[in-house]
Amino acid sequence: MFENLSERLERSFKILKGEGKITELNVAETLKDVRRALLEADVNYNVAKKFTEEVKEKALGQNVLTAVRPGELMVKIVHDELAQLMGSKATEINLKGTPAIILMSGLQGSGKTTFSGKLAHLLKTKQSKKPLLVACDVYRPAAIEQLRVLAEQIAVPVYFDLESKDPVSIARRGVAEAMAQGCDVVIIDTAGRLAIDEEMMREIQAVKEAIRPSETLFVVDSMTGQDAVNTAKEFNDRLDFDGVVLTKLDGDTRGGAALSIRTVVDKPIKFVGMGEKMDALDVFHPERMADRILG
Ligand code: GDP
Repeated sequence: MFENLSERLERSFKILKGEGKITELNVAETLKDVRRALLEADVNYNVAKKFTEEVKEKALGQNVLTAVRPGELMVKIVHDELAQLMGSKATEINLKGTPAIILMSGLQGSGKTTFSGKLAHLLKTKQSKKPLLVACDVYRPAAIEQLRVLAEQIAVPVYFDLESKDPVSIARRGVAEAMAQGCDVVIIDTAGRLAIDEEMMREIQAVKEAIRPSETLFVVDSMTGQDAVNTAKEFNDRLDFDGVVLTKLDGDTRGGAALSIRTVVDKPIKFVGMGEKMDALDVFHPERMADRILG
C-alpha cells in the first residue's frame, strides 16, 4: 500500500515534533513530499516546483510551525491552494449567436469526437437545444464515420462531406446547414494529429477565423503527463481557446495535467470526460480534482 500525502506529512511532522522542534528548514523538507506527490500525479516539473514554493510562503504565514497538527494544516493549505488555482474562473460555455458555434481542438486521440457527441447530447437533453454536429476531419474517413455513428446514437443531425478536403469550406457549409435546419448550436469536430504540426495549426486557425466560434474548447487526454503543458500552450497561443476539456478521467490517472494546464494557460477547465458512453460527462469540480491529485 502506498502512503498518501496526508499520512506521509503527518508522519514526518510527528517525528519532528518528537524531536521538539519544527523549523522553517523542516517545512521546506516536508514540501519535498508535496512536490513528490505532485510529480507522481503527473504534474509538470516546473509547475510543481513553483507551486510548492508558493505553498511554503502560505504555510509559514499560517503558522504551520506552531500548529497542533502541522501535517493536517499543511495538507489543507496544499489542497485549498490546488482547488483555488484550478477553479476560480467561470466555467459556463458561451452559447451566444444564432447559431452558437463551438469549435473543438486538440491532438488526435484526445477525445474530441467523443466529447463532441457528449456535448451535443448534454445540450439536447439538459438544455433543450437543437445541436448539429459537423465533421471537419478531412484526413480520416473513420473519424467522420465515428461522428456519424455517435450522432445517430443520440439522434442529432450531422453534416459532413466525404468529397471535400477543405475543412474551412465544410465548417462554413455546416453552419449554413444548421441555419437551414433551424439548429441553434453547431459543434465542429476538427482533425487532430498525433503531435503538433504547423499544417494542422494553420488549418484550425483558418477554420476559427472563418466561422468565429462563440466558444473554442481544447480537448486533452488527462493521462498526458509532462507534455500537457507544451500542447496546451501551443494551442492556446494559436487559438486563444476559451476552456479546457479533460478526458479519460475514468482511468487511473491522478490527473495532474489539470494543474499543469491551468497554471500555464490560465483558462478554465470546463468539463471532464468519465468514459466512452455519451452520458459520461461531468462538469469540472476543482475540489474533487485537488483530492485526486493529492491521492
Ligand atoms: P479524437 O481523435 O480526439 O476525436 O478522439 P476520440 O474521440 O476518437 O477518442 C479516442 C479514444 O478515446 C476512443 O477510443 C474513445 O472511445 C476514447 N475516449 C474518449 N473519451 C473518453 C473518456 O472520457 N474515457 C474513456 N475511457 N475513453 C474515452
